[in-house]
Amino acid sequence: MLAKTCLSCGYRGPALQGPARALRCPGCGADLYARPPRSYAELEGFLPSEDTIDMHVAGSTGRGRRQRVRRARSFAFRVLVMGLIITPPLVVVAAAGALAAIWMLRG
Ligand SMILES: [Zn+2]
Repeated sequence: MLAKTCLSCGYRGPALQGPARALRCPGCGADLYARPPRSYAELEGFLPSEDTIDMHVAGSTGRGRRQRVRRARSFAFRVLVMGLIITPPLVVVAAAGALAAIWMLRG
């Protein structure tokens, strides 16, 4: 799943793994600089490919950052809504408990 594979022929030998990779595919001779080998996880979008990471670093003040801010805001909003849904019953139970304790102390 993480083994780099030549996109032209499917070769996934040791020459394509690791940081110092071959520039030509040993299987078919394809130019791996122009079309870098990718792992299955990268192709399916489970992992960012190395090219994508470079693009994110280059444009970290642009769309990627704005998207992250929007996602964080959406998450904070959801946490707030969940808090508002969960908290009232707890307040009611606590108030009922306090009233019951006061009532028992009186009687
Ligand atoms: Zn190849």
